[in-house]
Amino acid sequence: MGKLSGEQVKAYHKQYNLQSWSKQGSINPIPVEKAEGIYIWDYEGNRYTDMSSQLVNLNVGHGNRRIIDAIKEQAEQFCYMAPSYAVESRSLLAKMVIDRMPDNMGKVFFTNGGADANENAIKIARMYTGRNKIFSRYRSYHGSTFGAGNLTGEPRRYPLEPGIPGFVKFFDPYLYREQLPFESEEAASAYYVGKLREQICYEGPDSVAAIVMETITGSNGVIIPPKGYLPGVRKICDEFGIMMICDEVMAGFGRTGKLFAFEHFDVKPDIVSFAKGITCGYVQLGGVCVSKEIAAYFDDHLLSCGLTYSGHPLACAAGVACLEYYDEAKILDNVNAVGKVLGELLEQLKETHPCVGDVRYIGLFSSIELVKDKGTREPLVPYGKDPEGIMGKIIGMLRAKGFMTYSHENMLFVSPPLIITEAQLREEMEKMDQVLTQVDQTML
Ligand code: PLP
Repeated sequence: MGKLSGEQVKAYHKQYNLQSWSKQGSINPIPVEKAEGIYIWDYEGNRYTDMSSQLVNLNVGHGNRRIIDAIKEQAEQFCYMAPSYAVESRSLLAKMVIDRMPDNMGKVFFTNGGADANENAIKIARMYTGRNKIFSRYRSYHGSTFGAGNLTGEPRRYPLEPGIPGFVKFFDPYLYREQLPFESEEAASAYYVGKLREQICYEGPDSVAAIVMETITGSNGVIIPPKGYLPGVRKICDEFGIMMICDEVMAGFGRTGKLFAFEHFDVKPDIVSFAKGITCGYVQLGGVCVSKEIAAYFDDHLLSCGLTYSGHPLACAAGVACLEYYDEAKILDNVNAVGKVLGELLEQLKETHPCVGDVRYIGLFSSIELVKDKGTREPLVPYGKDPEGIMGKIIGMLRAKGFMTYSHENMLFVSPPLIITEAQLREEMEKMDQVLTQVDQTML
């Protein structure tokens, strides 16, 4: 490459690319010339720190030698082989993924990313159970293709409506915004699980194929389920023969301090979808893990799923190297050590800034919920609306300091690459502190 100047890169981007989730007339992308570790540089040499791991996928940062070399080596051997051929990188990665899953898991079907992982997860649940209804939650994002977009509960689903019959939404436990006073997390869980069970009874349990949940809700605010909630959902699934599908696309592969987020809650799902952190974006890859029972069912039933690029050898080579790197670099230890500091810094922000209503964090996965008034908890911008572009302005203020992240509704996300050091984190959170002071002074 090197054929275009920075200005041309930006100009062509604006002129010819349709950029995701944006009004095209107002985009202002950084033309990126270089990236290393947790940093990126534009063509003028300005450095930015990636405090969202791009789209919460670049867990190991940029320039990881081991992954780059693995991709090169695979490219030299061959770049592509159809899914029906046995390929070393694909075979090995499948084994490595299953070895890292709970002991009830049997096989994996590889996809290109998270949305098609969820598409195939619900298709497999429907084929296996012979049922058609799919439950998922309002505060969720599961992808933007048609099926995954219908699973999604938040407004990014609206363009797909009226949507697919049989897709039913339910409410998740979001205790910060709950009106009912619960005496404990367990009491809240009992309430929500009870409501879910009631809803399933009204929908007809024999028609429900699956309950799909982000194990920890990601882009809708890092909402961590209260104690007892996921085991309660597991119990409903067992009672009615419903498949429990955990979407680990964002929370999986170390983000929360364990390899998979469901490990925090002592549950074993029937089906797990994953993507992002399996290759950290070096080449795109996703997948669906299914239990041994489901895998055995397809021994003599047709698995009616297929993708030209299912288990692309380059992606699988990246995946093998990536998982090896997580182990060797003891990434989980870093997430837990630096994550503890992140939690402390976030609590300080909550204590000192009137605009910070709540902070939620686990490992290096966190969000800051901004409010107009701490007492009433009124969000800084109303749900689904931000006519004055307030959140965009705050993201711009952070960007001006070199702190790159994104917002959703009234929340800011802090989910840096899992390789970040404590010193780097402290340096960046100081910038967040300064910006929140500006918000306190000018926006409340
Ligand atoms: N599921 C979750 C929880 C996600 O956060 C995302 C993307 O952010 C997806 C699914 C969709 O993944 P992809 O963008 O790779 O299709």
